[in-house]
Amino acid sequence: MEYFDVIKKYDYETISIIQNQKAKLFAIDVIHDTTRGPAVGGTRFMKYPNEEEAIRDALKLSRGMTYKSAAAGLDCGGGKTVIMEMEGMDRTLALKTLGRYIEHLQGRRYTGRDLGVSTEDIDFMRTETRWVADETPAGVGDLSEATAYGVYQGIKACLAEAYGNDSLKDRSICVQGVGEVGYWVVKYAIENGAKVTISDIHPKAIEKTAKAFPVTVVKPEEIYGVSRDVFSPCAIGGIVCSETIPKFRCRIIAGSANNVLATEADGTALFQRGILYAPDYVINSGALIQWWYRQKTYDVKNKRDPREAISDLYPVIRNILKESREKKLAPARVADRYAEGQLKKGKTYRDIHWGYEK
Ligand code: NAD
Repeated sequence: MEYFDVIKKYDYETISIIQNQKAKLFAIDVIHDTTRGPAVGGTRFMKYPNEEEAIRDALKLSRGMTYKSAAAGLDCGGGKTVIMEMEGMDRTLALKTLGRYIEHLQGRRYTGRDLGVSTEDIDFMRTETRWVADETPAGVGDLSEATAYGVYQGIKACLAEAYGNDSLKDRSICVQGVGEVGYWVVKYAIENGAKVTISDIHPKAIEKTAKAFPVTVVKPEEIYGVSRDVFSPCAIGGIVCSETIPKFRCRIIAGSANNVLATEADGTALFQRGILYAPDYVINSGALIQWWYRQKTYDVKNKRDPREAISDLYPVIRNILKESREKKLAPARVADRYAEGQLKKGKTYRDIHWGYEK
């Protein structure tokens, strides 16, 4: 599908290109939907083969954020920014330029860290805008840990569906990628009595996790074939595909990675193989939930304790899996329907005014 077909079909609100040739900045900011509230979504900084791929990524990710916010029942919408990594960039100037752009949206868009963006990067953006997440303890706290807590809840919900018992004790779990989120997923699993196998392409990440916890380490290419109850993808997207589906030796796939299914058809193929799948944007919404309830820039009605709200992912995922079983529909499809149901009313386009009232 060409861009404009995609933009029209999924009703994107605003797509902006932010350029500063002095900094070698080429960024795309997408506001997909603000029906439920301001367009929330991180800023990604990575190498793309070309501008088209970067735009495609921003479009896909921002729409994912709308579904994630809706599925979590939060009064916010979906957006995303991607910065193309270029040789010889002036990173500081690029981030400040982007910060100024976000500021001019006056709260209609709110961003934070995503892949390739550090807390220091966010600090540069914050010199120019209020609308970025502060991940210090005084701010919204450690969001990766919040994501891992949600993944832990999701794994329990899947265990309950698969075995009628949600205990992790003596269950075997593989964690692919032990970075910021994976490390905490391992911690929750070990503390709750699971036997854990890990893999990572980064020796330092392996070293840190293996030093802290009693885990078995396997090579990255071996992880798909390890026979376990749970496979927890916490590294990259697209790992459930036609090549890997026949290799999996697990009952459950539940992890933090975004866009785990390479295609919608892979979700159906996984379902037909009898492997339970916790839809990515539902199980990995812990960071978003914690951010929403702890940020101070928007006035949140019905404020909740973030931990308690993240724990609600358990019943949400259980219901998705139950409906999937009863309707013989892949869980990702059920999740989409659920999120679309949460979007309820038609678009209001009240976005233009987000933030001004404060
Ligand atoms: P991270 O970069 O800190 O960790 C990812 C880890 O995966 C790294 O250690 C990396 O070396 C490893 N890795 C990359 N490719 C691999 C491969 N092929 N095999 C094994 N290991 C591999 O990222 P993170 O913040 O921990 O996020 C992990 C995933 O969860 C990402 O897909 C991210 O988009 C998603 N996610 C993260 C959050 C969050 O709060 N950080 C929230 C929602 C979703």
